[in-house]
Amino acid sequence: MTTLENCLFCKIVAGTIPAQLVFQDEDITAFYDVNPQAPVHVLIIANTHTASHLETDDPTIYAQVLAGAKKVAQQLTLTDYRLVINNGAGAGQSVFHLHVHLMAGRPFAWPAG
Ligand code: AMP
Repeated sequence: MTTLENCLFCKIVAGTIPAQLVFQDEDITAFYDVNPQAPVHVLIIANTHTASHLETDDPTIYAQVLAGAKKVAQQLTLTDYRLVINNGAGAGQSVFHLHVHLMAGRPFAWPAG
């Protein structure tokens, strides 16, 4: 597992910064967002550090976070939810450890705007 000392989400994986975990296994960690944008807002990350969607070439990471999102939905018995990946600061990425947002519990407009 690759970790970065100064990465907030690597610290959550390591347990040195607290988070409200939904689940964790050897590959992924899922935890509630501290600034939720929906009644249910969970972040799903690979335990291995990778900065962003664009900077990741390992298909295993993609599989892990998307399968992890499904696991969260099933664990929380959600059938309607939105998955979001922000890539780059201009698109709203503020933490540079690739993560999927899973949001649910309210209506979502499309186009998102
Ligand atoms: P993004 O803006 O796509 O990079 O998403 C980063 C998300 O991480 C934001 O929605 C933040 O609210 C969330 N966040 C920041 N710090 C923490 C933390 N310590 N625990 C949980 N979520 C966090």
